[in-house]
Amino acid sequence: MARRKIVAGNWKMNKTPTEAKALVAMLAPLVKSDDVDVVYCVPAIDIVPVVEAVKGTNVKVGAENISDKDSGAFTGEISGAMLKDAGVDYVIIGHSERRDYYKEDDAFLNRKVLKAFEYGLTPILCCGESLAQREAGVTIDWVRLQLKSDLIGVTAEQAASMVIAYEPIWAIGTGKVATTEQAQEVCHAIRELIAEIYDADTAEKIRIQYGGSVNGKSAPELFAQPDIDGGLIGGASLKEDFGKIVNYK
Ligand code: PEP
Repeated sequence: MARRKIVAGNWKMNKTPTEAKALVAMLAPLVKSDDVDVVYCVPAIDIVPVVEAVKGTNVKVGAENISDKDSGAFTGEISGAMLKDAGVDYVIIGHSERRDYYKEDDAFLNRKVLKAFEYGLTPILCCGESLAQREAGVTIDWVRLQLKSDLIGVTAEQAASMVIAYEPIWAIGTGKVATTEQAQEVCHAIRELIAEIYDADTAEKIRIQYGGSVNGKSAPELFAQPDIDGGLIGGASLKEDFGKIVNYK
């Protein structure tokens, strides 16, 4: 059974609610697709207007973060229950910006992954190496270590339903796309790891994205790789080019 591709935009800290509605309207005719899942992962304050704006279309909405707690005195946090109730389906967990700037470690991210599942949200779990790690030849060891920790306690059934985004840190927002071979090699190693932790069936079902400066030009070759099931898109998700990425064929 062929896996369905999934193209998710990561808007990061961009777009006010008013601007978000305008972006959804601009992209609407460009992101129609029968065979690719399309997701907009948007800032918390844009979730409600974007859920409203994409109603009746093929686009699903994701959050960029989730609390590892259920509710209570956690100022500034957003819970799984809040996201689910607002109409969110996906949540990005472990983006390198959060790992780096906000010091989110694997034990914390593991709790967030489990919390997302508890509330019926699909994690888009990010992993990836720094330039120094790639140059030192430890990319695959590093990514395996990250994912092994992040997936503790996740069942095979849950793993089969989730998304992993392989994002080399040196390729994020830099305009430097990993070569097709580099991206495929790591996505394949991730699928092998999933088979090791779970089984072949789970590895066959889990969707693995590549992320890092993907644009309309680079998407077709990347997405044609056997282990790359779509992309997590930063900069280009805010532009018309996102439509080209969705309709990469
Ligand atoms: C990202 O932030 O997940 C990302 C891949 O960004 P960009 O496409 O801008 O490199």
